[in-house]
Amino acid sequence: MRITKIETAVIEANYDWTIVKVATDTGLVGWGEAFFAPGLTGVIREFREFLLGEDARDVDRLCRLMRTAMGAAGTSGMGFHAISGVEAALWDIVGKSANMPLYQFLGGKYRDRVRIYADCHAGHGLSSLSPVLLPRTPGWAKKQGQKKERWRKDLPARAELSTKFHGGQKSEAPSIRAQNYVRHAVEMKRRGFTALKFDVDVPSEYSLDDYNRTLTRKEIDLMAGLVGSLRKAIGKDVDLAIDCHWNYGVNDAIKLARACEAYDLLWLEDPVPPENTDALRRVTDATTTPIATGENHYQRHHFRELLEREAVDILAPDFQKTGGLLEGRRIADMAEVHYLAVAPHNISSPIGTMASVHLCAAIPNFLALEWHAASVPFFDDLVKGRRAPLIQKGYITLPEKPGLGIELDEQVAYKYRKHGEPFFDQPA
Ligand code: MG
Repeated sequence: MRITKIETAVIEANYDWTIVKVATDTGLVGWGEAFFAPGLTGVIREFREFLLGEDARDVDRLCRLMRTAMGAAGTSGMGFHAISGVEAALWDIVGKSANMPLYQFLGGKYRDRVRIYADCHAGHGLSSLSPVLLPRTPGWAKKQGQKKERWRKDLPARAELSTKFHGGQKSEAPSIRAQNYVRHAVEMKRRGFTALKFDVDVPSEYSLDDYNRTLTRKEIDLMAGLVGSLRKAIGKDVDLAIDCHWNYGVNDAIKLARACEAYDLLWLEDPVPPENTDALRRVTDATTTPIATGENHYQRHHFRELLEREAVDILAPDFQKTGGLLEGRRIADMAEVHYLAVAPHNISSPIGTMASVHLCAAIPNFLALEWHAASVPFFDDLVKGRRAPLIQKGYITLPEKPGLGIELDEQVAYKYRKHGEPFFDQPA
């Protein structure tokens, strides 16, 4: 079963959904998805040099070839996004060729449906961010009248981009912001989700500096107040997580985590930058609020230190980044050794989401899988071979069809394609 083609298409959604299509000489085609990065499809195309002609079923060996090929580009980052997209497509082919669902190749299922948590951003629908995380307004969003969000604060400080990210940003009055958060939370609870996540790292009039990673007492009170409003609105039967996008230093992250202890969070995500495991461990040790991280860690080696230093309570790997689904299975097994749960990060289209669903069904220590696309009106339209909607009452039912169990509707994808990118066999 020889690989004959590796093609990509980018769908301009809330992020760039980068779809990988692998074809074989048997006529079987596999679908995968890679987490966005600037220039990513160029990396995937480079893999053709050594993957064409290989047996598509030698998944792990082909991943090792891709890792070797990216050796000079480092042990983390976009090379692993590319590997993840190709690897998932290979598993789809393996499943189809054996006439078995993908989860069977990841150890078999522990559950028939996978719990989904809804990412609710900062109480508003996120419109769209470019691969360099600048706000943009795709055609479909223009039609919806969505406005650019000008207040994103979820990046490491970079002076040269500061004006664009923070220039003209408006902070909302605390009471308006709390109303928006609560309205969004109540709506998602009504739709059946049993776990929600909100961003609390939003600009406020109480902030003194965009770059020094500190929080004023009033900012901490504002954030804890938002969390309290959410908890009051959704009650105790819906789990609540909050995200800080690596923005704070150790001391203020501890203050924030402690201020949230009364609200029994499912987790507090990425309070400090991802590079320093000991800094994260200090936060984790200092609070009863569970601390989660992982979406900026790659392959098992980068998760090893997090686990061995007991720096984290919940792992949140992104299976469109980690280096593949099998690598995700290994990371989950490492977490299981420490009796830690895995709550995978996920911002992908139905293709990546479903690949993650198969893995989440197959790992014992699974908690909940993210869904980030509530603001994308065509999410379900991209799926062929399954009755919409994909998510029902906060769960995705595990498909029993061979491979991934869904196909990309290429006609719909074409409608939302990113211009300037190849659309599978059609050049840019
Ligand atoms: Mg996050």
